[in-house]
Amino acid sequence: MSNVTVIGAGTMGNGIAHVFAMKGNKVSLVDISQTALDKALATIGKNLDRMVKKERISEADKQATLDNITTFTDLKEGVGSADLVVEAATENIDLKLKIFKSMDECAPEGAILATNTSSISITRIAAVTDRPEKVIGMHFMNPVPVMKLVEVIRGYATSDGTTKTVMDMSAALGKIPVEVNDYPGFVANRILMPMINEAIETLFEGVAGVEEIDTVMKLGMAHPMGPLQLADFIGLDVCLSILRVMQDGFGRPKYAPCPLLVNMVTAGKLGRKSGEGFYKYTPGSKELVVSPSFA
Ligand code: NAD
Repeated sequence: MSNVTVIGAGTMGNGIAHVFAMKGNKVSLVDISQTALDKALATIGKNLDRMVKKERISEADKQATLDNITTFTDLKEGVGSADLVVEAATENIDLKLKIFKSMDECAPEGAILATNTSSISITRIAAVTDRPEKVIGMHFMNPVPVMKLVEVIRGYATSDGTTKTVMDMSAALGKIPVEVNDYPGFVANRILMPMINEAIETLFEGVAGVEEIDTVMKLGMAHPMGPLQLADFIGLDVCLSILRVMQDGFGRPKYAPCPLLVNMVTAGKLGRKSGEGFYKYTPGSKELVVSPSFA
């Protein structure tokens, strides 16, 4: 495998391009927005600089990594010679189905088409292509260059050969791949999101405050970050939409999102990215301050 195309140059796409390029793959990075592509290259450069400073890679490694990345705004051009495509565009079902339909038409016949989706069914995405056996989930964690896990998700029709290639490729990136089947939330979010939702319920019912809930989980369960801080980091809108996918997919009330979460998203309090969620964020400050709504 040497030609890898990454679709979407946002938070996840730039990290995925970074790790593939650093292992010597030729990476085509595709986004509809030139601004997103420029920002992604700047972020990758900055992250590589940090690695050079820590003496984890040399200046020459940094340059070679950057030289391995070419950017495109045209999907057709970007996937033309791909062995593997990893789609990391915006989490929207209609958009993903459209992208997979076009990729199926433009990518070489043997190319594996992977998606980094957090919640959309791999089987559903595969069904719009003529190669469902070559469609698979490759769920990287944020930040991609740091986090070791790749959740490899087999759709209903994904072949053993495709799964083995993607497991091997993930290991070659220095990651630890884990194979799971395609059911709502896969494994990571199926377990994480109910925990986050329960933390929000605990706050909603007045059992304890924001800091108290996070402290219990940090000190008591050795979690590096409390569930409310983690929810802010992921984005409260993202948490809500994953819970809705699980609620729809399983039809069980246990996945129903807490009304407080729904209210916060409706009010535009989305966590770190909007400046406020359970905590309030001030640019340039690393201090964790509870949002005035919960203080
Ligand atoms: P993001 O919003 O940061 O980036 C998405 C990018 O996709 C944007 O740059 C946008 O311009 C681009 N895009 C939109 N339509 C496109 C198209 N037709 N062709 C090419 N590019 C297009 O999103 P993100 O957080 O990087 O998430 C990307 C995917 O990764 C989603 O499926 C998400 O569920 C998944 N994911 C996200 C995280 C996370 O923590 N952010 C973690 C794991 C998985």
